[in-house]
Amino acid sequence: MKFGGTSVADIDRIRNVARHVKREVDAGHQVAVVTSAMAGTTNRLVEWCREAAVLHDAREYDAVVASGEQITAGLLAMTLEAMGITARSWQGWQLPIYTSEAHATARILDINGAELIARFKERNEVAVITGFQGVHRETGRITTLGRGGSDTSAVAIAAAIAAERCDIYTDVDGVYTTDPRVVPRAQRLDKIAFEEMLELASQGAKVLQVRSVELGMVHNVRIFVRSSFDKPEDIDPHATPPGTLICDEGEIMEQQVVTGIAFSKDEAQISVRRIEDKPGVAAAIFVPLAEANINVDMIVQNVSADGATTDLTFTVPAADFDRAKDTLNKAKSTIGYERVDGATDVTKVSVIGIGMRSHAGVAARAFQALAERRINIRAITTSEIKFSLLIDSAFTELAVRTLHSLYGLDKA
Ligand code: ADP
Ligand code: ASP
Ligand code: MG
Repeated sequence: MKFGGTSVADIDRIRNVARHVKREVDAGHQVAVVTSAMAGTTNRLVEWCREAAVLHDAREYDAVVASGEQITAGLLAMTLEAMGITARSWQGWQLPIYTSEAHATARILDINGAELIARFKERNEVAVITGFQGVHRETGRITTLGRGGSDTSAVAIAAAIAAERCDIYTDVDGVYTTDPRVVPRAQRLDKIAFEEMLELASQGAKVLQVRSVELGMVHNVRIFVRSSFDKPEDIDPHATPPGTLICDEGEIMEQQVVTGIAFSKDEAQISVRRIEDKPGVAAAIFVPLAEANINVDMIVQNVSADGATTDLTFTVPAADFDRAKDTLNKAKSTIGYERVDGATDVTKVSVIGIGMRSHAGVAARAFQALAERRINIRAITTSEIKFSLLIDSAFTELAVRTLHSLYGLDKA
């Protein structure tokens, strides 16, 4: 059972979470619980780091931002004990959850599941585990898994103890066809395939961290997204509650062509104008960006008409926009271009569905619908089960709603 930030935002909510845990324990289930920090806490900790020193050591950043989860794990264990349920809190280093050394973006390497199971048996207590954090074995330093990383902690622990299910309790009652806060007519999906969820999450739907879906897919963990706001006492622990199961494609009977729409406003567009059209230019542009650890996403290049010069457009995370421009500036003489243009007021809208593999013309319908709304498309990329469009941010809501109805996803 994993509980997100809004679900543990104050003592009342933590008490509510404890009642969810009690319900499962009373029903005879053995549960491990993963907690996030209280809503807003991690943001505040990140902000403090920035205020203390703009260029800070990532090891100390992790020491600071991992602290939010320590508080909620302790508070939940206390609350459970007060309800008569034996419980103990565990931090990443105590369990231990071993990770890579990539501070702030660490990956989980190893969790000793057998040891955890033995502890369950021996002490018969609920383990309340801090999400988002682990420890690097060799240096002994605390690490964190990237924003939203508690989902990943939960799925990794579920895999390690071979849990029957990994329930992700959040502030919505499942995965919707698009963010229900933007499109009120979005519908909850009963099931979604791992591959589709992976695309939704990586294209901007923050309901699950991407890495958690990857882990679930590799280790075959049944991930179930559900609401923590449902009254614990009203739920029958033996019945299927409302929520969304992330599962194998084969388990989904009725497959729509389009399953969901995701969008991300954290994009920036860069256009390199009048570069020489010759072998090696793409490398001259993208190698320095890769070396600067800047993730390039959409790439659009034309074939020049005169065989002399062309333009190249690509996107980077908005947070890396200035660094990317700076990197290109420094490499100007080796690349050889006239100028660099850029924009940060852009949004990437992605349409996702396994059904696209076997249907033609899915994207073409979107181009037409957006044209009718006079929304200009700056760049396009496609893959087997997804296509993405870069548009002006001002049109985000209109574009998402238009595509949502176009593909028949609106709730009646
Ligand atoms: P938690 O703190 O529980 O981890 P998050 O804020 O990380 O919760 O994720 C839940 C939020 O994800 C929801 O409040 C919702 O606004 C957003 N979201 C974005 N896309 C979707 C989607 N397709 N389905 C459900 N929620 C979505
Ligand atoms: N507290 C962390 C964050 O806000 C991890 C999480 O909530 O999943 O990113
Ligand atoms: Mg989250």
